[in-house]
Amino acid sequence: MINCTTVAGLRGACDAARLDQRSVGFVPTMGYFHAGHRSLMRMARTANELVVVSIFVNPLQFGPTEDLSAYPRDLARDIEMVESEGVDVLFVPTVDEMYPEPTQTTVHVAGLTEGLCGAARPTHFDGVTTVVAKLLSMVGPCRGYFGKKDFQQLAVVRRMSAGLNLPVEIVGCPIVRESDGLAMSSRNSYLSEFERSAATVLSKALFWASETVVRGERDPQRVIASVRQVSILEPTVELEYVEVRSVGDLSTLDALDGDVVVAVAARVGGARLIDNCTLSIRGDDVRVDLGVLVHPSIERIPTCNE
Ligand code: AMP
Repeated sequence: MINCTTVAGLRGACDAARLDQRSVGFVPTMGYFHAGHRSLMRMARTANELVVVSIFVNPLQFGPTEDLSAYPRDLARDIEMVESEGVDVLFVPTVDEMYPEPTQTTVHVAGLTEGLCGAARPTHFDGVTTVVAKLLSMVGPCRGYFGKKDFQQLAVVRRMSAGLNLPVEIVGCPIVRESDGLAMSSRNSYLSEFERSAATVLSKALFWASETVVRGERDPQRVIASVRQVSILEPTVELEYVEVRSVGDLSTLDALDGDVVVAVAARVGGARLIDNCTLSIRGDDVRVDLGVLVHPSIERIPTCNE
């Protein structure tokens, strides 16, 4: 595996692969890997000859009161994981390598970034689109792999990539869940054992809400109410939002139809967690996508007491 820290090193490896007619799959991350990240690497591995993973905790996407300095990091463990996934290039730049000068050039996607997570994190998506545009420009033509767990991020990155004519195919990957349903996240490491157990109410609420749709519910407000009713059973979980939106443009809906996402964000102890499920509704036919459960043999992220 090539382990590089410079933009020139990353560009060189990707250009050389393409010169050899080898396709490039790219997985941008902030590290502290779990099975969700690994599933993206596996999807990239099956479809591409060169697999590139970046680890960069991007200061630009954290608000002034957010968890930038506390964000979990373990580079030695991450390196072992990328090696075991057969990754070809690991790019771990410093902040100075990514932002040699104070940032004056940013990328903004209007509209899609305004509600949902954008409401509580008003500068977050500009930070994401700026760093993803920079990384995609460094990697060059490729397939880029993004998790559906961050479904708003995925929609925003797709829109940015189309809007800027980036030579990139954006691939959305299923949500990977712990065996009790909790969506895997590096931020789960902030949770105590008690909070972690309470946090499973989010996926239970999404499951319950999707069941109501399968049974015929088409009123978004009632679906939202059913998520709230289940979540209220765990007072440790403070809902920030529950929303039902159309998948493509994240617009609000009067009635459930077509491809729809039910999305939640919540505070649990010191962590802000997000989760969602997507529903494909064609008349009476409803397909629910809650993602996949991790194989029990895969180690789960320890809680903060472990
Ligand atoms: P992060 O390191 O949290 O910035 O995430 C890097 C990539 O992994 C993003 O595209 C995320 O959407 C994706 N990801 C994070 N958690 C999961 C998960 N549980 N399942 C699938 N993809 C995930």
